[in-house]
Order: sequence, then structure tokens, then C-alpha cells
Amino acid sequence: MTAKLLLLEDDPAIARTVAYALERDGLQVTHSLLVHDARQQMASHRFDLLVLDVGLPDGSGLDLLRDVRNAARTASLPVLMLSAHGEEIDRVLGLELGADDYLTKPFSPRELAARVKALLRRAGNGASSTPAIAAPLFQDDEAGQRISLRGQALLLTRREYRLLSCLLRGAGRIHSRDALLAAAWGDDSESTDRTVDTHIKTLRAKLREVDPAREYISTHRGMGYCLDV
Ligand code: CA
Repeated sequence: MTAKLLLLEDDPAIARTVAYALERDGLQVTHSLLVHDARQQMASHRFDLLVLDVGLPDGSGLDLLRDVRNAARTASLPVLMLSAHGEEIDRVLGLELGADDYLTKPFSPRELAARVKALLRRAGNGASSTPAIAAPLFQDDEAGQRISLRGQALLLTRREYRLLSCLLRGAGRIHSRDALLAAAWGDDSESTDRTVDTHIKTLRAKLREVDPAREYISTHRGMGYCLDV
């Protein structure tokens, strides 16, 4: 079934680019220029996702977001917010009000399309669309040796689990290949730095399957790897 998306954006050039990128991906896009019009659209149609600008000629997208979250029918509707460059306060408010994701202008249409698809997938998987700041990005179930990203369980091998778990515990820090080897392989002397690199590569691919919009593991030349959250 075609996903239906409501786009609230008053800048015609941005709206055209966004609509083009999303329609090319097979989504059905309805475009509103005004908050008033978006309200009418939502009253008479069911949408799978809302893409929302903040500054509109007849009001604020944040007011609409508040009402969307307060209405039972739309409380869990995925919302992606477009915030103007430098408007940090809009972004913070938007996340507090329950936006699921945001993009700062200017953004690439490809990135927008990737995030929209990630949001739709999450919603389709029955994951609750609670605000991104309320739900932990990663959950490490150490007893079960399972890790989930954005509420979706990752299918990891034992080594991959140990690697990611180690990176998660020291998120934001650089881990040397030696440290990662020790954490994931213990005393297995067959393993080398190359083994770590190979496993990091497959890990990245698995993370990308859940969240194509972000690269979580960064490479630090000559030093090792870091999980950025
Ligand atoms: Ca605007």
C-alpha cells in the first residue's frame, strides 16, 4: 500500500524538491502551504507521516504538532520536522512536543527520503512512535546478548554482539582495534586487526538496515573505532 504523506511547507522551492524526492520513492505527497490547510487535510484524510515546517505564514508548525500529539487519532503519527538553520530552540521544542525526527535546512532530498523511509519502517514494525529523545537509541540486553536499535532487534553474531556492546558501553570514546579484539575475541590468537575491520563492516551494514540515515560507527585513522550517539 502506498504511504501517504502530508507536507506542510510554505517555501515552494523546498516543497517541490521534497515532493519530487519522495514521489520518486513511491510515496503519495499532499502539500499544504498553510497550517490552516494542513488542519483541514488531516481532518478529512488519513496520513501515514507528517513532514512539518516550523515558520508558516499563518502560524507555527509547532502548534499543529502539539494538537496532533494531543488528538487520539494522530497521537502516534510519525512526524519529521524541518527546522530553519540556527533555530535550535525550534528543534528542541519540536522534540519535546513529540516530533520523531528533524532535519535542519538546507538538507539533501536524499537524506530526507532516507529518514522518511526509516520513520515509516519503524511505524510499520509496530514500534511506538514516542519522541526520539524519550526512547533510548540502543538497548543492550546483556543477559540475552541482544541489542536493538530504535526498538528493532539487530540480528548479530556472537562476535558482532560483543563488539557492539563494547562500543556502546564506551560510546563517544575511541576504541583501539586491540581493545576491541580483547573484548570480542578474548584469547583467540587467530584473530587480527583485519578481523575487527571485517566485523565492523558487517556491523555497519546491519545498523544501516535499521537506520539508513545515520552512520553510527566512525573510523579514526590509526586509532580505532568510535560509536557516535
Ligand atoms: Ca517556512
